[in-house]
Amino acid sequence: MPIRVLDATVAAQIAAGEVIERPASVVRELVENALDAGARRIVVEARGGGLREIRVQDDGCGIPADEVELAFARHATSKLSTADDLWSIATLGFRGEALPSIAAVAQVICVTRAAGADVGVELRIAGGEVQAIMPRGCSPGTTISVRNLFYNTPVRRDFLRSDAAESAAITSVVTQYALAYPEVRFSLVIDGRATLQTSGNGDLRAATIEIYGLDVARQLLAIDAAVGEGVDLVQVRGLVSPPGLTRSSRAAIHLFINRRAIQPRGQIAIVLEEAYHTLLMKGRHPMAILNITVHPAAVDVNVHPTKSEVKFRNTTQVMSVLGRAVRTALLESGVRPWEEPGV
Ligand code: ADP
Ligand code: MG
Repeated sequence: MPIRVLDATVAAQIAAGEVIERPASVVRELVENALDAGARRIVVEARGGGLREIRVQDDGCGIPADEVELAFARHATSKLSTADDLWSIATLGFRGEALPSIAAVAQVICVTRAAGADVGVELRIAGGEVQAIMPRGCSPGTTISVRNLFYNTPVRRDFLRSDAAESAAITSVVTQYALAYPEVRFSLVIDGRATLQTSGNGDLRAATIEIYGLDVARQLLAIDAAVGEGVDLVQVRGLVSPPGLTRSSRAAIHLFINRRAIQPRGQIAIVLEEAYHTLLMKGRHPMAILNITVHPAAVDVNVHPTKSEVKFRNTTQVMSVLGRAVRTALLESGVRPWEEPGV
């Protein structure tokens, strides 16, 4: 076949595939946008594993009516303007790819009202094509409904797992953000059933109770350590389990860098678990909800399109603060990490 430039729709679908792998990716992107918009209350609803519909409602700053179409254009973002800004990213989003990617592979209705605007606006867009835009009465904030995800890319749809597995992945995304942002009130409704609700009172342990129950949450040890300042700041805050409270997987290890979720693997997970020294039995893992704060310029989040991996400028320092903070919490709780369990 001769070389040809792809038509715009196909190119958009391919690009969308990098950002939107499954329904949970949609939820992640919409929740991040709501958080970036300063929302204090976020309601996530999913039906049919998120394929039939995902709806995310927030009370954030909204999108001005004359910008709503632009928000769905590729590489359109209000969060980054120069290449230098890339080194000081303080928002969760910055690529301007989520909304266009979602709109390329679903039927989207965006209802939004900017702070200070008298009325809102409704935009309907499907398969990347704007279908309608009209004024609409609504409360301040943004509601985005994503229906029939992958309706025009059936192959991707066929690769998905069961509705239950996709719903579980959605739950895990919302859980992560509910733990990273305890000051935001999160609700999750799956197939009409309220499955998760945090109070948004700002207390991490309170949010943890909603997710792991009172019995587990009350046993967790508080971590609060900070070293350096400015670009050298490394702060570690959160909760970790005492040695007696373990899990068979790392599923209850929630790690955040500047409140952005990262996978509980690699060096960070190793340093965390090594802090328990001999206290963890083979094959057992601690629970942890830890946010590591570093200066935005000391971390590179631009490693992967879905942004779940990061690179630190000073990895050694971050790891040493983390390890020490966890060991200190264990010691202060009366545990002596050099003793054998049960001694
Ligand atoms: P990014 O988040 O990388 O900027 P997106 O495609 O996710 O890119 O969003 C594009 C733009 O649309 C954002 O920069 C923001 O200005 C606006 N936007 C998206 N979602 C919301 C929301 N829930 N509330 C307010 N503005 C939003
Ligand atoms: Mg975004």
